[in-house]
Amino acid sequence: MRQCLDERQQRFLSLTDKVVPALAERAGRHDRDNTFPFDDYNDLREAGLLRLTVPEELGGLGAGQAEMLPVLERLASAGAATALAYAMHVAPLGSWALTWRRTGAPPLAQVLQLAGQDRLVLAAIASEIGTSNLFLDAKTTATRTEGGYRITGRKNFATNSSVATMWATTARYEDPDHGARLLVLLVDPSVPGITIEQTWDTLGMRATQSNDVVFDGLFVPEHGVVQSIPVGHFDAQVLETIICWTAPSFGAVYTGIAAGALDWAIAQIRRRGLAGDPRVQDAVADVEIMLEVNRSVLQRHAAEVSSHRLMEQLTVQEGLGRCAFVKNVCTNNAAAIMTRLLDVVGGAAYMRGQPFERMWRDVQAGLIMPINNRTGKELIGASSLDVAVAPVADLQMPGSER
Ligand SMILES: Cc1cc2nc3c(=O)[nH]c(=O)nc-3n(C[C@H](O)[C@H](O)[C@H](O)COP(=O)(O)OP(=O)(O)OC[C@H]3O[C@@H](n4cnc5c(N)ncnc54)[C@H](O)[C@@H]3O)c2cc1C
Repeated sequence: MRQCLDERQQRFLSLTDKVVPALAERAGRHDRDNTFPFDDYNDLREAGLLRLTVPEELGGLGAGQAEMLPVLERLASAGAATALAYAMHVAPLGSWALTWRRTGAPPLAQVLQLAGQDRLVLAAIASEIGTSNLFLDAKTTATRTEGGYRITGRKNFATNSSVATMWATTARYEDPDHGARLLVLLVDPSVPGITIEQTWDTLGMRATQSNDVVFDGLFVPEHGVVQSIPVGHFDAQVLETIICWTAPSFGAVYTGIAAGALDWAIAQIRRRGLAGDPRVQDAVADVEIMLEVNRSVLQRHAAEVSSHRLMEQLTVQEGLGRCAFVKNVCTNNAAAIMTRLLDVVGGAAYMRGQPFERMWRDVQAGLIMPINNRTGKELIGASSLDVAVAPVADLQMPGSER
C-alpha cells in the first residue's frame, strides 16, 4: 500500500534513499561479522542525516518527529541495526530541538549547534541488569567530589558507544539534603574512567554493538548533571524529553524491518508467479494493514508530541502509558508481520543467505525494548483504573530544578 506523505516527508525520504542501497548491501556483512557499521554512519553524515532533527537556524535540516519517523522506517527497511543506532542519536536531538524552540535554553542551543556542525554523536546509556529502564533508579552510583561527581557502575545495551562523542547516562546519588536521587548526566566518553567491554553477541541487532560499559570513578563536572529526580518517581521531563521520542523511534525502526521484509517477500512472490493467488493476496493484505496501523499510530503520536497536547492533557503516568502503547503496537505488529509472511515465503525465510532470516532475528529485539509489553500494560491498565504505579516528581521539589 503506497503511503500518502506530505511534501516535507517526501523530501526527507528522497535524501534517505541516497544511503539506503549501501546500507542494505552492508547489513548482512555487519550482522555476520558482529561489527559496528562505521561505513553506514559515514554515509549518514555525508548525506546530512546526522543533522536531520537539528533546527535549521542551528545548522540542521529541521525535521520534526512527523518527518523523522518515516526516515527511521525507511533506513530500518535496509539496515535495522544501523537505523536503531541512528535513532539513539537523532531522536534525543529532535526532542532537545523542540524544547529549545519553547525555552531558548542556551545549553541546548550549544549542543544542537555542535550537532549542526556534525561534531556530535549521541548515545543514551541507561540500561542496567536488574533495573527497570524507566528512569526510576540506578545501581550505578554517584558520589560527591570537588567540582562534581565520581560515577561507578556497569551499564549494558550501550548502543552507539562505538561512535558517540557525548553520552547521556544515569546514576544514583544519596543526597544528604534531599534523599536518594537519580541523576541524569552528560558524559564525555574520551575522559579516563570508562571501559567498553566487548560483550555484545546477540540473536539480532548485532551491528548496534550495544556492549557493556564500566564506569570506574569517572569524573563528571557539576554542569554535566542535567537532571536530578527523586528515586522511584516518574518525571515529567523524562517523559517529555526522552520517552516521548524514544518510544516512537523504536516503533518506527521495527515497523521498517517489517516493511523491508514485505518488500523482499513481494519480490519473491512475483518471481515465483504467485501474485494472482488469493491466499497470497490475503497474507499481503494482512501485512499491509498492520503496517498502516503502525504508521497511523506513529503519526498521531508525533502530532500529539509536537503540539504539546500529550504533555498538557495527560498525567505523566498516562503519557508514559501512551508512549508504551505506540511502541508496543508497532513492535508487536512487526513481529506478527514476520510470522504472517512466513506463510507465503516458506523455506526461503529460513535460509541464512537471504535477508529475511536476519530481519526475523532483528525484529525480536523490539519486544524487549522499553517500554516492554508487560510494563506498558501495567501503565495503561493502572491509569484507566486510577491507580498510581509510582509517585510523580514534584517540579518544585528541592534539587529537581537542576
Ligand atoms: C538492540 C537493543 C539495543 C538497546 N540499546 C539501548 C541503549 O542504547 N541504551 C539503553 O539504555 N538501553 C538500551 N537497550 C536496553 C533496553 O533499554 C532495556 O533496558 C532492555 O531491553 C531491558 O532488558 P531486560 O528485559 O533484561 O529488562 P528488565 O527490566 O530487567 O526485565 C526483565 C524481565 O522481567 C520482567 N519484569 C520486570 N519487573 C517485573 C515484575 N515486577 N513482575 C513481573 N515481571 C517483571 C520484565 O517485563 C522483563 O520481561 C537496548 C535493548 C536492545 C534489545
